[in-house]
Amino acid sequence: MNAARVAWIARPQCVGCTLCIEACPFDAIAGLAQKTHCVLPDLCTECALCLPACPVDCISLRTDPGHPPRNRDYRLQARDRARRRLQRLAVLRATHERRLQDAHARFRDGGTDARRAAIRDAVGRARGRTPPPD
Ligand code: SF4
Ligand code: SF4
Repeated sequence: MNAARVAWIARPQCVGCTLCIEACPFDAIAGLAQKTHCVLPDLCTECALCLPACPVDCISLRTDPGHPPRNRDYRLQARDRARRRLQRLAVLRATHERRLQDAHARFRDGGTDARRAAIRDAVGRARGRTPPPD
């Protein structure tokens, strides 16, 4: 029986940009921002969508003798995982959109003082510190 291929990350090259996590439809990559990422081989379907997403080209597909070729059950489970991921992303997008609209409404309707405070808070956040008191 032929072995399956799985994605493999050359960890010393990984810069932790998280782009491969976004690109993987099957939740088969784990890692935190600015930390080395890794592939969860049991979840990898060999789709190769993560390869072009990596800005430093440190992902490749490798034959893994520990993983037999994917059977029908495996493919069905992967499909369900991909569907759940899409549902999760849709909820996150809707929440983000709602927060954005709330913030826009507060900015638009809040008057000059509220606008100034919003700008000061945003600049403070961008600088990584809390804004100085008035
Ligand atoms: S090959 Fe496909 S399933 Fe495997 S880690 Fe990359 S994007 Fe995910
Ligand atoms: S896309 Fe490449 S560099 Fe970025 S986290 Fe994934 S493996 Fe690391």
